This record gives sequence, C-alpha cells and structure tokens, in this order.
Amino acid sequence: MKDYYLILGVSRGATTRQIRRAFRRRVKELHPDVGGPTADSAAFREVAEAYATLGRPERRRSYDALLARRESPPPPPPRRRRTAHGAAREIALEVVLSPREAREGGVFSLVVPLRGPCDACGGWGGFLGVCPRCGGWGECETRLAFDLVVPPGAPAASRLECPLDAWGVPGARLTIFLRTAPGVPD
Ligand SMILES: [Zn+2]
Repeated sequence: MKDYYLILGVSRGATTRQIRRAFRRRVKELHPDVGGPTADSAAFREVAEAYATLGRPERRRSYDALLARRESPPPPPPRRRRTAHGAAREIALEVVLSPREAREGGVFSLVVPLRGPCDACGGWGGFLGVCPRCGGWGECETRLAFDLVVPPGAPAASRLECPLDAWGVPGARLTIFLRTAPGVPD
C-alpha cells in the first residue's frame, strides 16, 4: 500500500488546501513537459494518483481508515490456553424428554457447538506468524455431534457426565442434564 502522504510530501494532518498546493508543486517538479530532463512519468502518475485520493475528502477518509488498519501494530501473540493444561471446561446441556421418550428410551442426535483446539496449528496459534485459521487464538468453533442413547425407563431427572478427550476436546467435560417434562411432545 502506497503512502500517498509521503508521495505528495505532506503531513498526515494536512488540509485539503495544503494537499492541493503540494500536488501543484510536485507536478511542476515532475510533469514531463515542465520538468524537462528530470521528468519521471512513473513518479508523475504516482503523484496524480495520490492527489486523486487525498484531494477528495471522501476518498481520503476511506484511505486514512485503510492506512490506519495497515499500520496498526500486529496483535500480541496469544497466550497459551489454560484449558489445554488441565483446567477443565464444563459444557452443560439440558435434554428434555417427553414422558413417552423417557418410558421407551431411544437414540437422540445432539449437536453441541463448542470451541476446540485449532487443527491447523494444533492449538499453538501459529508458528510462522499468526495462524490464518484461528487468528492466533489456537481455538476454532467446532461442532460436536453425537447420539445420546437413553435406555427405557429413564429416571425423571438424571445427570450424565462424559469427558471429551476422546472426542478431540482435551480437558473438557460434557454434562447432560436429562429430565422429563409432561408437556413435551414426543
Ligand atoms: Zn490455528
């Protein structure tokens, strides 16, 4: 990304009038017809391009915003996640069964959205700069899909716990609160 301010030789805070003046001065220096032997058409085009942007307040604003984004310092390297080192994460889920479902049991397909370690960088956040997949956080949104098998005659309220290491989410534990509610349709 070119620095149009540098090309025109003005400060970032220059007024439109100062920019116009700087443009005219640079044109005189560079224009093929005026500049004679020092003329440089590539440089002239660059100056014209710079003025076309900085000389128009609306374009200048978008350019400034872009410039600020480009020049903002890179995000600090993410800290390793504590969850990868033991602190268990609790994922709780409530499953409400109808009286018939509780009585007869069944297999219920569930999908739990959760954040898991990024498989692109292995949860590290990136080796060669910031990982493009997870943005350096080491975690990505994943979906945990599984079938919950409820045996017939499930108690009105039960609590099931399952560590998720085997599901690819180390250090996390899934707790399912199973309850039966009379008003729930089958
Ligand atoms: Zn990653």
